[in-house]
Parts: sequence; C-alpha cells; structure tokens
Amino acid sequence: MRVRYSYLPQQFAEPEEILAAIRAHLQTCHLTLGPEVGQFERAFASLIGTTFAIGVASGTDALALSLRALGIGHGDEVITAANTFIATVGAINAAGARPVLVDVTPAFTIDPGRIERAITARTKAVIPVHLTGEVADMEPILALARRRRLQVVEDACQAITASSRGRRAGAMGVLGAFSLHPLKNLNVWGDAGVIVTNDPALNERLRLLRNHGLKNRDEVEILGYNSRLDSIQAIVGNWLIRQVDDITNRRIANAAAYDAAFGDLDGEITVPPRRPDVRRVFHLYQLYARRRDALYRYLHANGIEAKIHYPIPLPLQPGLAHLGYRPGDFPETERQAASLITLPVDQHLSEEQIRYVIEVVREFCRSR
Ligand SMILES: *Cc1c(COP(=O)(O)O)cnc(C)c1O
Repeated sequence: MRVRYSYLPQQFAEPEEILAAIRAHLQTCHLTLGPEVGQFERAFASLIGTTFAIGVASGTDALALSLRALGIGHGDEVITAANTFIATVGAINAAGARPVLVDVTPAFTIDPGRIERAITARTKAVIPVHLTGEVADMEPILALARRRRLQVVEDACQAITASSRGRRAGAMGVLGAFSLHPLKNLNVWGDAGVIVTNDPALNERLRLLRNHGLKNRDEVEILGYNSRLDSIQAIVGNWLIRQVDDITNRRIANAAAYDAAFGDLDGEITVPPRRPDVRRVFHLYQLYARRRDALYRYLHANGIEAKIHYPIPLPLQPGLAHLGYRPGDFPETERQAASLITLPVDQHLSEEQIRYVIEVVREFCRSR
C-alpha cells in the first residue's frame, strides 16, 4: 500500500466551483483588495473569535508586519522558539530586529521558564510558536510579558482553530499570525497570510502597512509595503474556510488513532506529552523514535512517505551563524532534530492507510 504525504491532488480533484468563482471575479477586473478579500477577512475573524482579521501576502509577512505595526525594528530584540520554521526568524529579521532564540519543551513549544533569562534591555516582544498545531503554554508567557512590558505576537501559522482552555491560538496575544500556504491546514493555491487582533488602532495600521501606507488613492500616511492578500487566493480561501472544522476533526481523529496505537512501544517510540487542556490540530503528527533514521528508511521502503521536520537544528543553520549559537546551546531542540519523525495525518487518508501505517511502525519496532 502507498501512503503519500501530499494530499493536494485529492483535495483539489474537483476544482470547478472555485474556477467558476475565479472566472466571475475576472469579469469584474477588481483584481486587488476586491470584495472577496473583505469577505474572507470577516469569515476568518469570526472563525478565530477576534474583532479584526487583515489579509496579507504570506504568513511570514503576517509576522513581519505585526512587528512593524507595534513599532518594533532596528535595535530591538524579539524572542522566539529555537525549533521553529525559519520563517519566524526571517520575519523578525525582515522587521529589522534581532532574533533571540529560546529552547523548547518536549511538547514542541517555547519553554516559558527559559524566556526570562533571554530578556535584555532591548527585548520588545516574544513570539510563541504553536508548532505542529500544539499550543504554547500561554498563561506564564502572557504573565511574564505583562510584568516585563513585552508584546506577545503569536505565530499560529500551524495552528488554525487550535485552542487552550477555550482560548483560540492567535487570539491570546496582541496580534496573531496565520499562513494559508498550500501545506497548511487551511490552504490556498499559493502564498497568503492573515493577522488577527482585537485592537482597532493596530487593525488600521496593518491595513495601511500592507498597502503602501496609502490612506486613499493619493495620500501616503506611513511608509508601508505591498503585502495584500491576493483576491484569487481569497476566493480559494472562501471556498475552503467552510471545511476547516471537518478538516481539523479528521486530523484530530487520525492522530488519536496513532496515539492509541503507539503508546506501548516503550523505548522505540515515544508519543510527545499531550496536555489535557489543549485542542491540538495536528498540522504535523510527530513521534520521537529511538532509531529515527532507520524507521524513516523502513517506512519509505514500505511505501509510506514519512518526513523529517526539521533535520538541521535552526540555531545551527549557516544562515543564522551571525547570531553566534553553538552546538549544545539548545539541547531539547537538538534532540528533537535528531529523533522526531513526521507521519501523514491529513484529512484525506483512508482508515486502511492509517491502519497500514500503524502496522508498519509496530513491525519496525519489533525488529532488531
Ligand atoms: C508556514 C510557517 C510560517 C510562514 O508562513 P508562509 O505563509 O509560508 O510565509 C511561519 N511560521 C511557521 C511556524 C510556519 O509553519
């Protein structure tokens, strides 16, 4: 049996409805910031439970513009998780600030106990990353941020509709950033992103920032960017946003089947800690594996397209060398890079495929 990683051919096997909407849109020739963008923003804000949602060009821009809207830039430091996808660090850099990395917990999110030591006189913000669809431990982070007067911008790019104690990921900090990249849980046909907030002044400022700082056709209020949510992507988003709950529930059910099947493989496989008060949305399903690389080869030899996110610890990437981090600085992040394996968990997997993955992983664990 083959278990592919990408489900995009299945997801968009019947695109006629979307194509018809795009054709109708073309007839209006209202090709930037058309009504589809506003419609998507209203639906997105209501999904996350915030007053405002601002569509932008990517998840990376959602983070960079958030920092800019808060006045964070040159000379400032921004703390984030050492195991994140490069885009978080790239966005801090794009805003002109210096990224400061902090190690994470075995549940993949920034370790609140380590943040305080990383704060300096230049620190302006913390970006907790809800990696894999897990939710960072927000209560201590928000309390610390209040005490030390730091802004909290959530990187919720992998965590659409995740929540902790009933509070949605992205809606707990002053701003929350999402990605609609084709590989994310709410995915469009290219790059797109969204920022959510309850703050009317930030909403106004972000709308200026994403559109050259233009107040109207002729007046430039602030210096901004060209980072609009593309109208065609908004059309795809409007079609898909209705399916988000179904998509997410399928992923959660698949993950629950895996968790139940892999709980007793002590020594070979360890299921990450699952905090009971979190609704995690499994953008990725990851396990710790003692013989990770051998398991990866075994799965591929048996037709299962497992992945490794991410094989090189971010702090040790050549592109971050100027930050001066050394092997051993982030033991948990390094351990994760060496032992995590990602299994397909998406909404298009059949029950047979899930059973087959379970069977092959268990078979591997029995072998020596
Ligand atoms: C995908 C992702 C981003 C960036 O999103 P893009 O839309 O690809 O720019 C940022 N942070 C995390 C954790 C992501 O997974």
